[in-house]
Amino acid sequence: MQVFGRIGGEGHEQVVFCQDARTGLRAIIAIHSTVLGPALGGTRFHPYEREDEALEDVLRLARQMTYKSAAAGLDLGGGKAVILGDPARHRTEALLESYARFVDSLGGRYVTAEDVGTTQDDMDLIRTVTRHVTGVSPSLGGSGDPSAATAYGVWRAMEAVAARLWGSRRLAGRHVVISGVGKVGSMLARHLASAGARLTVSDVRAAAVDRVADDVGAEIVHPDKAHATECDIFSPCALGGVLSPATIAELRCAAVVGSANNQLADPTSPARLAEAGVVYVPDYIASAGGVVNIADELAGYDADRAHRALDRIFDTTAGVLAAAEAGAITTVQAADRLAESRLAAAR
Ligand code: NAD
Repeated sequence: MQVFGRIGGEGHEQVVFCQDARTGLRAIIAIHSTVLGPALGGTRFHPYEREDEALEDVLRLARQMTYKSAAAGLDLGGGKAVILGDPARHRTEALLESYARFVDSLGGRYVTAEDVGTTQDDMDLIRTVTRHVTGVSPSLGGSGDPSAATAYGVWRAMEAVAARLWGSRRLAGRHVVISGVGKVGSMLARHLASAGARLTVSDVRAAAVDRVADDVGAEIVHPDKAHATECDIFSPCALGGVLSPATIAELRCAAVVGSANNQLADPTSPARLAEAGVVYVPDYIASAGGVVNIADELAGYDADRAHRALDRIFDTTAGVLAAAEAGAITTVQAADRLAESRLAAAR
C-alpha cells in the first residue's frame, strides 16, 4: 500500500490515526498545512461504511480548510478530523475525552471545532481535556455555534455579487432561492427578509420549511426543483454535490452563493457555470463565516472584532469576482490563486 503516496499527492503534512480499545474510539486527524498557522478544522462524527472512505473524506476536508482560511485572510492552516461511528450510538463522554487527549497530544498543531455529527456540548467536553478547541460555549469564553456567523457571511457574499452584477449591494427586491433551511439556511432567510429580498425556500423536512416560510413570508419549492427555479440568486445550504452538469444546465439564476460544502459535483462544473453565464461564488469563500468567527477565539473572543472580520467576506468575494473577470478565469481558479498566493508568500 502506497501510504505516503496517498497523502503526499495533496501535500498533507501529517495524518494521525487514533485508536483506543477501551472507549472504542477510532478517529483520523489530518493536518493539511500549518504554513499560515495552526491547522483549524472541525471534527466530523460519521458512520463511514469503509475506513477508506473516512480517510478520503478527512484528507479532502483538511485541504479545503487550508484554502478556506487562507482565502479568508486568516493566519490559520487547514486540518480536519473524523471519528468513525454513529454519534447517536457510539458517542460517549469517555470516547470524546479519549479523542480530546489525542488532539491535545498534537500540542496545538491541530485545533478542533464542531462539524457534522458533533455539537457545542461536545466541544465543551473536549475543552475540559485540551485548550486546542474552538466553538465552545460563550460561558466558557467561546463563540458558540458558528452557524449564525456562517449565515451572516453568505449574506455578505451575496451583497458582493449584487454590487458586481447590479451596481448596488442592496438585495431589496432580489429573488433568492434557499435550498436547505437548517441552521445556516434559516438564519440566512431571516437576514435576507430583513434586507427586503423576495424568498423561496426548500427543504426535505416539511416541518422545517413550513416554519421558515411562515416566519419570513417565503414561497416553498420542492427540493428537486429548487435549483431550476427562476431567480436572481440560488443558495445551496443543504448537502454538497448540487452543481452537476445536469443541474447546471437547468439553472435559471444569475448567481449561486450558498454555504453547502463541496457544491461542485464534477471538475467541469466551474467552466460550465461560467459558460452558462452564472456567477458562482466558490463554496469555501461564501461559507467562511464560521471559521472566521471561531478563529477569533484564539486571541480571546471579541464579538465586535469578529463581526468586522465577517464583514470582510464582502471584500474577499468582490476581489475573487474581479480577479476572475480580469484574468478570464473561473471564480474557482481565482479563489484558489488567492489562497495559494498567501501560502506561497508565507512559505
Ligand atoms: P443543517 O443540517 O442544520 O441543515 C441542512 C438542511 O438541509 C436540513 O434542514 C436538511 O433537512 C436539509 N436538506 C437535506 N437534504 C436536502 C435536499 N436534498 N434538499 C433540500 N434540503 C435538504 O446544516 P447547516 O449547519 O445549516 O449546514 C448547511 C450546509 O452548510 C452544510 O453543507 C454544511 O456543511 C455547510 N456549512 C455549515 C457551516 C456552519 O457553520 N453550520 C459552516 C460551513 C459550511
